[in-house]
Amino acid sequence: GATIVLENLTKRYPGNPRPAVESVSMEIKAGETVILVGPSGCGKSTTLKMINRLIEPSSGRIRIGDEDVTAIDPVKLRRKVGYAIQSSGLFPHMTVAENIALVPKMVGWGRTRVRDRVEEMLDLVGLDPREFHGRYPRQLSGGQQQRVGVARALAADPPVLLMDEPFGAVDPITRDHLQDELIRLQRDLHKTIVFVTHDFDEAIKLGDRIAVLRERSHIAQFDTPEAILTN
Ligand code: ADP
Ligand code: ADP
Repeated sequence: GATIVLENLTKRYPGNPRPAVESVSMEIKAGETVILVGPSGCGKSTTLKMINRLIEPSSGRIRIGDEDVTAIDPVKLRRKVGYAIQSSGLFPHMTVAENIALVPKMVGWGRTRVRDRVEEMLDLVGLDPREFHGRYPRQLSGGQQQRVGVARALAADPPVLLMDEPFGAVDPITRDHLQDELIRLQRDLHKTIVFVTHDFDEAIKLGDRIAVLRERSHIAQFDTPEAILTN
């Protein structure tokens, strides 16, 4: 993992004077899973997208390890940061294997290494490579799509994993499975994970620490699940 530091991060969207995120500062330690939990519209996704440089902050700074995110080369950022979102974000016109191979190819891995990695990732998320390799996203259940989304995010072995309600679109039983798998993965891989949810139970289950956010991502509490439950 790598440490992530947010310093006085603010985001104003065009045409809206009220910031979506205002002066957020936070340090996420290497190898830690931090959950951002809070009501819909409080700026969780905006914060995550700024860490992944999908949108630019209006002001403030973000560092991953010793690098400034706003100055980093985009391909290098892809190598550092995996991103998984609700309803998987898979490209519908690409097979499962092509979706998983996307970032490794982008960052310059060779063909054999990419092919082996796709198999390894499918095994990792509990999908039989022979069965799922050539399928298109529409030929998968919601839970299977989410698994492929997680496999894609992990494929280039990034030290940082950003997850935006990754299990939001699946039924409660599948969600429970996927949560258990993420806990198992985290035990083996030690990624730095920032995980967004509006589900407090999910936050308690998955987080090393939980940031409870109010409007504009103001941090109301930032502590371990145990400490938050006893407060
Ligand atoms: P959350 O992820 O906590 O639901 P978001 O980060 O999606 O919150 O949104 C935070 C605020 O920013 C909301 O008020 C939302 O309406 C606004 N917002 C999000 N995306 C945009 C955008 N592209 N343009 C303008 N406003 C946006
Ligand atoms: P482009 O700029 O080529 O359109 P984006 O950066 O918008 O690409 O991302 C394209 C797709 O890749 C999106 O579906 C997004 O969810 C996914 N994605 C974005 N960042 C990452 C990342 N760091 N790792 C893996 N997938 C990502």
